[in-house]
Amino acid sequence: MNIFSPEDLLFHLPLRYQDRTRTSLIGHLKAGQETMIAGVIHAAETGFGRRRSLQVRIDDGTGSIVLRFFYFTSKQQQGFKAGMWVQCFGETRRGRQSLEMVHPEYRIHEEKPSMVPEKSLTPVYPGTEGIHPSKIRSLVNQALEKHGAMLQELMPQDLLVEFGLMPLGDALKFAHNPPSDVETDSLRDGSHPAQKRLALEELLAHHLALNRLRLRRHRESAPPILQTGGTWKRLKDLLGFRLTTAQERVVKEVLADIGQPTPTLRLIQGDVGSGKTVVAAAAALQAIDNRYQTALMAPTELLVEQHRKTFVSWFAGLGIQVAGLTGKLSAAERRRVLARIESGDAQMIIGTHALFQQAVKFNRLGLLVIDEQHRFGVDQRLALRNKGNLGSSVPHQIIMSATPIPRSLAMIFYADLDVSSIDELPPGRQRVQTIVIPSDRRDEITARISGVCQSGQQVYWVCPLIEESDKLPAQAAMKTYSVLSKTLPELSIALIHGKLKSTDKERIMQRFSHGGIDLLVSTTVIEVGVDVPNANLMIIENAERLGLAQLHQLRGRVGRGAGKATCVLMYQSPLGRLAKKRLGILRNTDDGFEIAQKDLEHRGAGELLGTRQTGLQNLKIADFARDRDLLPDIEKIAGKLNRNHPELVQPLVARWITNSGQYANA
Ligand code: ADP
Ligand code: MG
Repeated sequence: MNIFSPEDLLFHLPLRYQDRTRTSLIGHLKAGQETMIAGVIHAAETGFGRRRSLQVRIDDGTGSIVLRFFYFTSKQQQGFKAGMWVQCFGETRRGRQSLEMVHPEYRIHEEKPSMVPEKSLTPVYPGTEGIHPSKIRSLVNQALEKHGAMLQELMPQDLLVEFGLMPLGDALKFAHNPPSDVETDSLRDGSHPAQKRLALEELLAHHLALNRLRLRRHRESAPPILQTGGTWKRLKDLLGFRLTTAQERVVKEVLADIGQPTPTLRLIQGDVGSGKTVVAAAAALQAIDNRYQTALMAPTELLVEQHRKTFVSWFAGLGIQVAGLTGKLSAAERRRVLARIESGDAQMIIGTHALFQQAVKFNRLGLLVIDEQHRFGVDQRLALRNKGNLGSSVPHQIIMSATPIPRSLAMIFYADLDVSSIDELPPGRQRVQTIVIPSDRRDEITARISGVCQSGQQVYWVCPLIEESDKLPAQAAMKTYSVLSKTLPELSIALIHGKLKSTDKERIMQRFSHGGIDLLVSTTVIEVGVDVPNANLMIIENAERLGLAQLHQLRGRVGRGAGKATCVLMYQSPLGRLAKKRLGILRNTDDGFEIAQKDLEHRGAGELLGTRQTGLQNLKIADFARDRDLLPDIEKIAGKLNRNHPELVQPLVARWITNSGQYANA
């Protein structure tokens, strides 16, 4: 469990708390509540629903509830005698006739139990197989008793005072053993000063770890790619459009960056269609003018092909050699491309992950551009970095992403790289009309599809992939596919989902992009970045279950051409207030930055950052959405620590991030 010392145990923090300090009235319960109840046993019987189960109905005078057991012994069954009392702790859920608790913890009493078993909230720790939760609790308590006092406060006194922070020892003691008089609500929602103090230190540790990475990068060397301006100016004249102000600004940032003798690591973020590719082209030309190769890596063959065509059309007239490397090439073609890469004849190389195979030897790789980075593992990116053939230098890197990261988040969690934002779309882009409707109106939508396709346009129908374990009602892509195939026999319909082999997926996407498929039913796997100008209608089922940033990404698939585009967000009724608000945001704005910001507020950072392989998935106590108010302080504290107490940085990082090596690769 990454616990090696008593101190690690102290930092093994509760995920949440259970309230066993009071007994709820059954008549007041709602579904989804974790609570303690007590009631008289009415009847215990085995029933045959979909699965055989033991059902025990209990009643406390205010209402009744069913305790349901799928696994039980006959002895257990006999224990539930009518008229006896039972006290239990568990989570309520909606049952067939009334609320239920499935496999609650319980104890049977002769008469009404008068005592509650705990005086204060019970911490629930992350566990692992083979260790009982109570064992973990007792180990943590031993560590607190024996080692708590020796724990070193790493936050300097002046910062504790300036930022009003509770001392670390107190905060830890509190988190592991909340006193019985604590206000339980603040503890449960994580807003207690003790929790805030710990969350702040944890986020600070991650920020410092990333910052250290940046410093390390600045000690490495890279070839300075000097501005000549020549070829890029010529391309600008050939483009047939003028760069937006935002593009101009980002081009300037990037060109200045790669002119430095230290390796660039810059994220270019901008909405789908904001024109990131041409920015990459500017940097590539600068590198090529300096007699360095540029490699552009894209996650799928289709995207590689699309980029290759673009770059050939831009670069051929400039006398620049473009090569494509994918897994699809024949052995002879592949040998030829590899030879051109090695000899330096290929100046601009575009490929899938095939680029980092052993056989690929660059002549002089000065710049590496990575498109839609989240599809690549960090290791893959690093492998390429080491292939530059630049002696002790490494290539510059640019990463392009269509999922903008809000500034507050980037400030802390992208502290190791520089961020440029293309926050403006080229003129004349039409907005995708977005409609939010309940799924019981799907017949209307289906009827509309036929007309849309008969007028020669194409349609996406997206169904979020539902895990088997998922109990919520949802339309799986396969079911939708078979229903639509029956209702719309006149259309050519295809199904694409994550379980298909990637070659099959590519083949279907290829056919769709060539117009051979009218309606594409898919899970959320459809490619980011693939352009099908003829697709003008997108329907997304169960839209309420997806993050806003993801919905926005999906929506970006339509409206790439001349026709008027529509996105239909279908939801399962009833829609909660918050869900309604979220979908409303999407209907009213098409600014990816604003949407990402809202997503952060509503759902936390998981989805936005989930793509990054840092320790962030393993936060022990901090929660990005909940603790984002701490960010400004964290940035200030980090600055002060680096300046005035640099010796504290390493121990602070090590204390919170057991495996801080993961940041070495970030
Ligand atoms: P993305 O940021 O999604 O990768 P692309 O680079 O693929 O966007 O650009 C989308 C389309 O817009 C391309 O056809 C590109 O040539 C075009 N484009 C890019 N910049 C401009 C501009 N300033 N004016 C007009 N069209 C542009
Ligand atoms: Mg793109």
